[in-house]
Amino acid sequence: MAGSLAAAAAAKGGAKVLLLDRNDHTKVGKKTNWGWVCGDAVAKSHIDYIEKELNMKLGEPVLDIKVDGVQVLSPDMQNKFPFEGEGFSLDRPKAAQFFANLAIKNGVEYRSHYEVEGPIVENNTVVGIYGRNEKSEQVKIRAKLVIDTLGVASTIRRKLPQNEYIENMISTDDIESTGRYIAKFDQVGEDLNYYDEKNALIHLNQQLAPGGYGWVFPKSGKRVNIGIGVEKKSLELRNTRLNKKDTLHSLIDQYVEWNPTVKKLELDPTDENGKGYWSVTVRRQFDSLVFPGYLGAGDSMAMPNPISAGGIGPAMVSGVLAGEVAAEAVAAKDTSLAFIWRYNKRYNDLYGNKTAGLEAFRVYLQSLNNDLINYGMSHFLTKQEAEEISYGRIPKITIASTFNKVLSGISNINAFRNLVFTVNKMKKLNELYGKYPELSGFSEWKKVVNAEMKEVKERFPPNPI
Ligand SMILES: Cc1cc2nc3c(=O)[nH]c(=O)nc-3n(C[C@H](O)[C@H](O)[C@H](O)COP(=O)(O)OP(=O)(O)OC[C@H]3O[C@@H](n4cnc5c(N)ncnc54)[C@H](O)[C@@H]3O)c2cc1C
Repeated sequence: MAGSLAAAAAAKGGAKVLLLDRNDHTKVGKKTNWGWVCGDAVAKSHIDYIEKELNMKLGEPVLDIKVDGVQVLSPDMQNKFPFEGEGFSLDRPKAAQFFANLAIKNGVEYRSHYEVEGPIVENNTVVGIYGRNEKSEQVKIRAKLVIDTLGVASTIRRKLPQNEYIENMISTDDIESTGRYIAKFDQVGEDLNYYDEKNALIHLNQQLAPGGYGWVFPKSGKRVNIGIGVEKKSLELRNTRLNKKDTLHSLIDQYVEWNPTVKKLELDPTDENGKGYWSVTVRRQFDSLVFPGYLGAGDSMAMPNPISAGGIGPAMVSGVLAGEVAAEAVAAKDTSLAFIWRYNKRYNDLYGNKTAGLEAFRVYLQSLNNDLINYGMSHFLTKQEAEEISYGRIPKITIASTFNKVLSGISNINAFRNLVFTVNKMKKLNELYGKYPELSGFSEWKKVVNAEMKEVKERFPPNPI
């Protein structure tokens, strides 16, 4: 998603672009051996943005079906909160093919079967990449700028010299292990809490999906994209406390079994993309997305939304912005870090300014067991306040403003106090990102952001059961 759009945007901006992918050209964008592993859901606002920026229109089969929104359900199924607005389920293989073709149409040279092994770094600047072609011969490629869109396990990012801008590794605490099936099914009865052909459903449940959630997203042709994400520490704690030995794989099957409405799943063999497992990050994007000679976009920069793990939108938006800035830099004959810094600012203004706050909220959420989530969703927040949070905006939740919320039970009251603490932190983090720094102020700014986040993480260890 990020790669082809970065290439298309850079070429549209006049740059000479080479787009590399390890896959066969018929399987462009295939994330892993498992396929184009994804829940496939994307908000309409992101689609609108790329259509406008790249001057094109998307339709079927790329946009598989339209949904009214995402609904988040409490573990006891008594409360349903809306999250993000209208959206689409994508056909990921078709979308990847469409975007690669768009890049080629814009003049990009596309090379398949190229395995990127790492960056070429000279004088602390990325000047190209090295890797292997389809004959396994080592081929070095030099470029004025490299845009890294290799996804969460990027071999370029991991081999950058240690630096203050881009982290090489991502903490496992900030990763969800995920898996999903795309399958035809038989519908048994009608219960919109378990299957809704007009909405994507998210089930919060610390026993079924510790530290994450389960989802049932509708697709065309009476198919679903159904899966779960779990966080490693939460899963270990849950297993210890319940004396179980579950894994991601066993939990997905239990989640599917638990659903009374979606029955008799039959994996969809199309594109061999019916079943797959992969990782998604749930932290804020890296504090900087650039290093000398290098820009990163999409999952390589930990961009998925920290509470929904939605990474398609940010990958598309960042891809376009990175491509545009790279083309501007080449045209201006100035590929310095100071010039490409504007990409950080633009991404922050358009999307990134809310993700640190959402990361804080995600950490808080992972510290609540099912009882507290149930209680919180019926007593702490109105639907409107919850929706505000999902967009990264800050509702006014203070102890004083909620006198009318009658809370009982000491652990519930503590959880509410912790929510007030979290919302205040979100506000502070949003303010910090509202003043995203110039290059010269970056070190100082980063120290303050990291200190705020450390406080949140120390206060809220995972506590699923
Ligand atoms: C199970 C699951 C469910 C998800 N559900 C959703 C959802 O419903 N909505 C949503 O918005 N997001 C979802 N996400 C996240 C979303 O899939 C990603 O954020 C998105 O794919 C990121 O796109 P990307 O272009 O940055 O990276 P990727 O899609 O990972 O693409 C990386 C590309 O780089 C190639 N590549 C990698 N390494 C090399 C190498 N060394 N050499 C050459 N090529 C290489 C890969 O083959 C691939 O083509 C989900 C993720 C998972 C795992």
